[in-house]
Amino acid sequence: MYFTEEHEMFRQTVRSFVERQINPYVDQWEEEGIFPAHDLFKKMGDLGFLGLNYPEEYGGANADYWYTVVFAEELSRANCGGVPMGIVVHTDMCTPALAQFGSHELKRKFLLPACRGEIVGAIGVSEPDAGSDVASIRTRAEKDGDDYIITGTKLYITNGTQADFICLLVRTSDDLGYRGMFLIITPPTLEGFSVGRKLRKLGNYSSDTGELVFDHVRVPQWYRIGAEGKGFQLQMQQFQKERLIGSIMAHSSCERTVRDTVAYTKQRMAFGKPLISNQWIQFKLAELLTEIEALKQLNYHCARMLMEGLDFTKEASMAKLKAGRLTREVNDTCLQFYGGMGYMEETPISRRYRDGRLLSIGAGADEIMLGIIAKYEGFLG
Ligand SMILES: Cc1cc2nc3c(=O)[nH]c(=O)nc-3n(C[C@H](O)[C@H](O)[C@H](O)COP(=O)(O)OP(=O)(O)OC[C@H]3O[C@@H](n4cnc5c(N)ncnc54)[C@H](O)[C@@H]3O)c2cc1C
Repeated sequence: MYFTEEHEMFRQTVRSFVERQINPYVDQWEEEGIFPAHDLFKKMGDLGFLGLNYPEEYGGANADYWYTVVFAEELSRANCGGVPMGIVVHTDMCTPALAQFGSHELKRKFLLPACRGEIVGAIGVSEPDAGSDVASIRTRAEKDGDDYIITGTKLYITNGTQADFICLLVRTSDDLGYRGMFLIITPPTLEGFSVGRKLRKLGNYSSDTGELVFDHVRVPQWYRIGAEGKGFQLQMQQFQKERLIGSIMAHSSCERTVRDTVAYTKQRMAFGKPLISNQWIQFKLAELLTEIEALKQLNYHCARMLMEGLDFTKEASMAKLKAGRLTREVNDTCLQFYGGMGYMEETPISRRYRDGRLLSIGAGADEIMLGIIAKYEGFLG
């Protein structure tokens, strides 16, 4: 209904890539606390996976958004959350503003090699004192000749220890608030940049997460995306694609988790019969599938709005809210039905349980989504 034969062929290509190039290595990468983004992205770039919706001039495929939906659905068949997260940070979180508002020269310099998988990207918004409250970021940019001198610290940055460019949100004055901000591409090779720490986490082990320190880093002014003072708005726009792709991956991953649990409870015997013969278990799983289908349809609705060029901020916030909550419910319920086996590291549900917890926090916490929905509904007049 939504997908053509070409979309389905693309689905098979991505599925086979995940099965051959990601899943056999996931346990090793989880153990090592990082996946080899440069190596993996080059392979993905060669297959045209990394710039699906971007113009061909900048290495993209100029494809419709249904290809991104397929890509996200299939990526979530990876046996971990960390690797898909690192990939979509690159494709849908740190590049949308660059692609839409970057200058031609900036796109040739960073978007083109990013789409080819020659460089790895990261998005640097959150800071030690500002996560949910993006308008309170403190990282400063001061003009000096043709450059900006950037000073500050970014926290929890995915791909942060191996990125070749960071789409960084900075501000031009000490006055907090959403004015005076801009996005600027900052390569970590510049003097004054350092990775403060590689952070240890509850889950998503294969994704590296860094604290990044900028100590008077000199960045050319032409690396800025869009106008000075527009950074907050551009980042809010960029967040919509980030939230939608996270939400799409969630419906796909939740569906797989429930179907795996159906298979397990069909063969696991207790009290002389398969677990699934308990009506409680059947009903619980049936209800979860119903909720997952509702989330999927909301995601597809957002995809249609995006393709029509409509503002889908409210709908993306609803989808992201539901995706975070449903992921927690699905993982918790299904782990329960696996019993002790669900608590074992060797059972995929245990990793999904800890990896999935992030969705209600990252890319804007549930409460931030509720605030956006309330604002769009005009609750405060
Ligand atoms: C593994 C991981 C990867 C990440 N990757 C990136 C990345 O690549 N780039 C990046 O920039 N950031 C990244 N983040 C940061 C993430 O986006 C922030 O953690 C998130 O936005 C929440 O900000 P905070 O942690 O500062 O929480 P805080 O802002 O301190 O909020 C804490 C909690 O308070 C509640 N809360 C906050 N505000 C309100 C409110 N107005 N009303 C009611 N309740 C509220 C929420 O429950 C929230 O979870 C990542 C985080 C993690 C954990």
